[in-house]
Amino acid sequence: MKRQAKAIAMISGGLDSTLALALVRRQGVEVKAVNFYTGFCITETQRRKGGRPDGTIPRNEALRAAADLEVDIEYVDISGRGYFDMLVNPRWGYGANANPCVDCRVFMMRRAKEIMEAEGADFVFTGEVLGQRPKSQRRDTLRIVERESGLDGRLLRPLSAKLLAPTIPEQEGLVDRSLLEDISGRSRHRQMELAAQLGIADYPQPAGGCCYLTDENFARKFFDVLDAREARGEARRLEREDVLLLSTGRHFRLSPRAKLIVGRTEVENALLEHHVEGRARVEARDVLGPVALVEGVPTWEERVLAARIVARYGKGKDAPRVAVEWREGDLVEVYEVEPEHDEAKLEALRV
Ligand code: SF4
Repeated sequence: MKRQAKAIAMISGGLDSTLALALVRRQGVEVKAVNFYTGFCITETQRRKGGRPDGTIPRNEALRAAADLEVDIEYVDISGRGYFDMLVNPRWGYGANANPCVDCRVFMMRRAKEIMEAEGADFVFTGEVLGQRPKSQRRDTLRIVERESGLDGRLLRPLSAKLLAPTIPEQEGLVDRSLLEDISGRSRHRQMELAAQLGIADYPQPAGGCCYLTDENFARKFFDVLDAREARGEARRLEREDVLLLSTGRHFRLSPRAKLIVGRTEVENALLEHHVEGRARVEARDVLGPVALVEGVPTWEERVLAARIVARYGKGKDAPRVAVEWREGDLVEVYEVEPEHDEAKLEALRV
């Protein structure tokens, strides 16, 4: 009798990874799911910041999918130096924005391989679909990810398995290839059909991106941080704090030396308060307004400009002058400024 196989499932909780999980589970394979946190997950960041702009709290779909299919799940935080360095220098380059998907997948799969070995599992599987994404899910890039992660022959993509070379667990009979799928391309038609067949009703609609790195506006801010460091003669490098601040507030590039970040909501203001150290904290003194931070070493003109922008986003925006407090460590200064009303100028400074 064939022994029971064990597998590691990489799941996001989207429809594809939920289906992959169901397809492998129904073959009697013991599965442990893992969900990677990169620091750039939009829904997870929103959850940590108290919800979406409309006030709703997104659920953690990976946890939900694992619970529905009754498998254990481990939440693995891969954000950190190694991941950030990969983002700055991706070997296979970026997709349309700041998303180095091939490198990112290799990074994740290497980690999944470690987990596979530690768990004594036979293989890793994902919800990837051949041809669904223009760069990272082409036949050649799927192969690169498999080879570079060291998972040669042990990386199964159940939704497209019949279109790909048989993996070791298929050859060994641990997984029945005939019960896997031959899905390719961007249409979700077959996936919907399969969900109905497998009795999977609760899954998120394809969101068209749950990673900030694929977002055009975010990518502008991401590259701005790297470019500004380079312009100052520093290494192109990303820090953990940058990651958090990149998804917080309105960003204005005053010069390569200085950037202004203005909170948009109370939650963002509170978050910025936690990152005052090493930055100037700027806020209107006598009227309600946002908390703002200035990074770097601004000139006098740039300080005044930052104060005018902060005044513009507060309740005093229509006042002739607003007192704006500038705090840097123990130093406190107050600038009496006219709120900035030149929208074209603001737009030009906006990152
Ligand atoms: S979209 Fe690309 S960069 Fe973002 S998590 Fe997925 S693979 Fe990584």
